[in-house]
Amino acid sequence: MLETNYWLTTVAMPPAEAAHALPEATIDVAVIGAGFTGLSAARTLARRGASVAVLEAESIGWGASSRNGGMVLTGLKLGVNQLISMYGRERTQRMYAASLSSIDCVEQIVHEEGIECNFSRCGHLEVACKRKHFDDYARQAEVIAREFQHTLRVVPKSELESEIGSSIYYGGMVDEVSAGCNPAAYVAGLGRAAVKAGARIEEHTRVQSMQRDSRQGVQCWKVVTSRGTLWARDVFVGTSGYTGGATPELRKLIIPIGSFIITTEVLPEKLAQELSPRNRMIYDSKNYLYYYRLTPDRRMLFGGRAAFFPENDQTVRRSAEILRRGMIEVYPQLADAKLDYVWGGTLDFAFDIMPHAGQMGNGMYFALGYAGHGVAMATYQGQKIAELIAGDKPENPFVGIPFPGAPLGLYDGRPWFLPFAGAWYKFLDWVS
Ligand SMILES: Cc1cc2nc3c(=O)[nH]c(=O)nc-3n(C[C@H](O)[C@H](O)[C@H](O)COP(=O)(O)OP(=O)(O)OC[C@H]3O[C@@H](n4cnc5c(N)ncnc54)[C@H](O)[C@@H]3O)c2cc1C
Repeated sequence: MLETNYWLTTVAMPPAEAAHALPEATIDVAVIGAGFTGLSAARTLARRGASVAVLEAESIGWGASSRNGGMVLTGLKLGVNQLISMYGRERTQRMYAASLSSIDCVEQIVHEEGIECNFSRCGHLEVACKRKHFDDYARQAEVIAREFQHTLRVVPKSELESEIGSSIYYGGMVDEVSAGCNPAAYVAGLGRAAVKAGARIEEHTRVQSMQRDSRQGVQCWKVVTSRGTLWARDVFVGTSGYTGGATPELRKLIIPIGSFIITTEVLPEKLAQELSPRNRMIYDSKNYLYYYRLTPDRRMLFGGRAAFFPENDQTVRRSAEILRRGMIEVYPQLADAKLDYVWGGTLDFAFDIMPHAGQMGNGMYFALGYAGHGVAMATYQGQKIAELIAGDKPENPFVGIPFPGAPLGLYDGRPWFLPFAGAWYKFLDWVS
């Protein structure tokens, strides 16, 4: 088994450009992070005629954007009733509509730019680990149909065989609007599209600090990087779970949480068809959840929060065995399947488990907090915040919602409480 991101073995990432000096003149926008958020923003801004540089500490797509499950999902992490109680009916309706539009946004970019990333509207299936989770599906589907005019199909256990070759669940719920893709191919294509539109992508350029400063009598941002200083009229931070010391004000609002994935060897066609007859993007109803799907070349890709800490050699290795056991509980048919790859990445959770976007008090633009639902939402927020920077007033119901920090301010960006959080979520799964 290789400790490598399988998706990266299927795609040629855009080649790194020969090192050149950072721009000397003040540019319009410096974008921090070359994932879905940053590249989608850079593409939109450059198409609008702005001068844009994307500053990326590693390489295009190095963060979560190349490492994820490739599930292009509708909906938000929190349930609709909870959202309505937090934000009211009208804003929640706009949030739900935005989550549906975010899938269209990915589809449109893929088509416009001709990105070959196996994008397909295959739908997603949520499966119930407990009877009461299944009972709740009917209530959720009813609220979503009434409030958001969006149809979800509840699948009783007796019909679940048509959706999944596993007998451990109490039923499921299907959303046909969700899609699947190869995320590394998608982020590579997004990078090429941003460059085609005129953006510069500066790989291996880590932002060390940013501050407002005057240059030639004009207030702008002085961005100090590992490759020198850059001046920009605006900055947009899209660093997700990798948000660090360069933006301490954002770092303390985001909890970095590890998520890990294994893939099997290529499976026989008949077995793959039995495991996932409709090729859905699948996840279960637990807090400490598993998510899984077939890859385009018929491997089972199986992921979860096997360790709460972000990826390193030890958490990746330990996760492989934990996930293999989880996969066999779901699919005993895979007991003898060889594992070919394991890897991990870091998710970005805000304390309220909501995406957040907009402008900080100092004028810095940002979008992050996708909580494992970022393929579509990061693309969408990158585009929407870019439109805001360009002077439009785009519809974006996530701008301006309260962005809570840790209770009592007990957090500076170093998540000392992760083992407790992991235990807490396991406990919740046991009792709820
Ligand atoms: C294992 C895993 C599975 C997932 N599965 C799914 C899924 O199936 N569906 C879904 O919707 N979502 C999923 N997600 C979440 C999704 O991948 C992310 O929400 C999304 O990729 C975030 O994109 P981004 O561009 O905001 O951040 P990222 O792609 O993480 O990019 C951030 C970039 O910022 C760079 N950076 C950080 N600090 C600096 C600095 N100081 N200077 C310069 N560069 C910097 C990093 O190097 C990194 O490349 C998953 C995530 C993981 C980790």
